[in-house]
Amino acid sequence: MEIYRRRLGKDTWHWCTNCINWPKRDYVEVERQMRPTTYELCDQCLAKDKTGNCKTNDNPSASGIGVKSQHSTFSFIVCSILPY
Ligand SMILES: [Zn+2]
Repeated sequence: MEIYRRRLGKDTWHWCTNCINWPKRDYVEVERQMRPTTYELCDQCLAKDKTGNCKTNDNPSASGIGVKSQHSTFSFIVCSILPY
């Protein structure tokens, strides 16, 4: 499973934690096996993927307090207002 994050109000998914635009607050996080087909995929994450430079987050819940609920096809975590 891979973790995908999208900034609230933005239409771009990120999955590399070393992406310059990787959302650290006010994001929607999903865990799924396939790339999301809704919204856009980040150009930077795609480029990192191609060059093997993409770091993925294998401990997703460590970075925030989230509300977790079950969606029909994937688990769904919304995090907001982290004290940075
Ligand atoms: Zn990205």
